[in-house]
Amino acid sequence: MTLSAPRGTVDILPESSYKWHFIESQARRIAELFGFSEIRTPIFEHAELFMSGIGAGTDIVKKEMYIFKDKKERLLALRPEGTATVMRSVLEHKLFVKPINKLFYMGPYFRYERPQAGRYRQFHQFGLETLGSDSPATDAEIMHAVIMLFNAVGLKNLSLSINSLGCKECRPAYREELIKYLSSQTEHLCIDCNERIEINPMRVLDCKREECRAIISEAPKMPQYLCSKCRDHFAQLQSILDAFRLPYQHNPDIVRGLDYYTGTVFEVLSKSLGAQDAVCGGGRYDLLSEKLGGKQFPAVGAAVGLERLLGLLEKNNVPFPERTPIKLYIISTSSEAEQMVSRILAECREHGIATERDYTARSLKSQMKTAAEINAPYVMIVGSNEFAAGEVSIKRMADGVQTSMAPNSVVKYLLNEEKQ
Ligand code: AMP
Repeated sequence: MTLSAPRGTVDILPESSYKWHFIESQARRIAELFGFSEIRTPIFEHAELFMSGIGAGTDIVKKEMYIFKDKKERLLALRPEGTATVMRSVLEHKLFVKPINKLFYMGPYFRYERPQAGRYRQFHQFGLETLGSDSPATDAEIMHAVIMLFNAVGLKNLSLSINSLGCKECRPAYREELIKYLSSQTEHLCIDCNERIEINPMRVLDCKREECRAIISEAPKMPQYLCSKCRDHFAQLQSILDAFRLPYQHNPDIVRGLDYYTGTVFEVLSKSLGAQDAVCGGGRYDLLSEKLGGKQFPAVGAAVGLERLLGLLEKNNVPFPERTPIKLYIISTSSEAEQMVSRILAECREHGIATERDYTARSLKSQMKTAAEINAPYVMIVGSNEFAAGEVSIKRMADGVQTSMAPNSVVKYLLNEEKQ
């Protein structure tokens, strides 16, 4: 048996879990500040949901899904992303009856990708979805929320890039022009891009290979082909972003890797992430509900990659708030004092004082050494003498002052100290 986590997965150990708590609590706070409620969906779904939702021709579905059959031969998949799962749940529970529904989610997602820095096979996303409105104000609001999250955790210097992919009215004509252009350049494009020309030509615009970049720079771009409705939507979005004082760039090469996007798409990028520079991606998916068999309603969403966010914070030495420190460490060298020690321990914890004890029968010196390592500001000491006298002593580690007191005064003493 190999004692290692599967390739592309990582254990979140105690030395970093408190950083996750910080990011997660800020994400929840921002989501609620913007009126989003949490939705939790299963980790696995019917594979078909992603095939029709994300698109059978996308890399995610073609190459990256963890698919398996259960004992009843049902074809299931570990969820590779959140939007299709949220939409499935919304349609199933008829949550779309409200005029607008704002949902957020957070949890693990799975893609069979080649692991590298910032790219994992199990990764975590925080996502926001607004269902039921085609207002550009909802697009802008989601961008505002994610940028506020980055600011709240201490990150600056990220860039927001936006684009419009057009709608079912204006995109087909563009698609045709693009295919025509790309088909004339096949010998200069990489193998992947050649494959994409017919299946998903807009994905070619997303290729990072140098040989393709030169061809892409000359390709026809969607903005020239937008219908007046899409053009208006995009102009309004920009004017709301201006009102929010959110800086952005229009990048006509942003296409996103999932088929369900229509109209607005956007990414938040960081220069310090290297090749995996996208920390957040999102956009409008007005046709997804219909594609999944529900009634048509407009929607917009975004997902933030939490490993990438954490990586950025660490790279930029952004300080994390301290984890809840142990306030009192209890040391006893008297076996007879066990019941008294247990009572004080329980009382302290029940009064909200973070308390740990030594469970060994080691010497006072050894137990004190552990107390120092734990860095508890107060250490309670019970030896045979203290026990015989019906007392305990508390040492304040900052100045070494040691105070004797009755066992039932410990909580009062510590709460009083907190007020000083
Ligand atoms: P997507 O669902 O592909 O739009 O991804 C949204 C965000 O999730 C990206 O901007 C990344 O930050 C993050 N992400 C996507 N795939 C991975 C992965 N394999 N490992 C780590 N983070 C990822």
